[in-house]
Amino acid sequence: MDKEQRLKVAVQKSGRLTDHSLDLLVRCGLKYSRGKDQLLCYGENMPLDVLLVRDDDIPDLVHEDVCDLGIVGRNVLEEKRLALADRGRRADLEELRVLDFGSCRLAIAVPEQTAYDGADSLQGKRIATTYPFILGQFLRERGIEADIVTLSGAVEIAPRLGRADFICDLVATGSTLAANRLREVETVLNSQAVIVRTPQPLPQEKQSWLERMLLRIDGVQQVKESKYIMLHAPRTALNEIKRLLPGSESPTVIPLDGFGDKVAIHAVCRENVFWETLERLKAAGASAVLVLPVEKMLA
Ligand code: ATP
Ligand code: ZN
Repeated sequence: MDKEQRLKVAVQKSGRLTDHSLDLLVRCGLKYSRGKDQLLCYGENMPLDVLLVRDDDIPDLVHEDVCDLGIVGRNVLEEKRLALADRGRRADLEELRVLDFGSCRLAIAVPEQTAYDGADSLQGKRIATTYPFILGQFLRERGIEADIVTLSGAVEIAPRLGRADFICDLVATGSTLAANRLREVETVLNSQAVIVRTPQPLPQEKQSWLERMLLRIDGVQQVKESKYIMLHAPRTALNEIKRLLPGSESPTVIPLDGFGDKVAIHAVCRENVFWETLERLKAAGASAVLVLPVEKMLA
């Protein structure tokens, strides 16, 4: 297949999103080999290559149509959108899917001892961040005038160095904030990894591969929690058992030969099945209960 017909996906080279992103593509069926320069992963069994880059470069690579798709944090994407809009450029970077990893939030934090009484407390303060555009929009929407101190990293130590009063930075667990004696006071943006696509139309072959990949991604994300459950039960307990099966659509009911009114019930549960559920099923009359992981699903 000629080069122009291969989908090019930008993925973070080395960081928090790297393993999750490559793992997702592998679960979608991709087998790849890594090039000598370690920058390109060549898809061996499908027309899809992965370009490994810094996460900050991903929105531009996709926006400028160097890559067709990118996997990047919404925080990075949103900052780029606002930066483009600020320069009067159209920021048409369509988010195709929200992925189930990379979750964090962009938050404002203040030194532990500092009093904070709502967003008005930000008025006139210096706030250090690597996300000046997102923070700027947050402040503007609340009619607050503050001094945004744009840094390229190590934001959490800015208050101690006297470079800022507060910070606006990414938080996942809050342990970095605690270690730096900072207290989270406002959520500016909730973020997760997303798939973003080029604003340019794709040739038909590529577009159809893109659609196939999206269906597979949906399948992969759905099965993570899903279980296949099989059990025996008296027909009279059927309604109660259906009610207990978490997130399942109409289960299959099969008569059991030679077992009187007993039936076998098979169902896909879209949520995890916990011991408590199994105990309730048993109390409702279920026996021979078997819970299996689901490997693949195609709606
Ligand atoms: P690069 O070298 O690619 O520029 P980076 O240091 O900017 O890497 P990482 O720290 O690897 O980036 O984070 C990548 C993304 O992971 C973030 O933009 C964010 O979307 C997400 N993320 C999830 N949890 C956290 C967290 N606790 N701190 C920072 N980012 C997080
Ligand atoms: Zn980065």
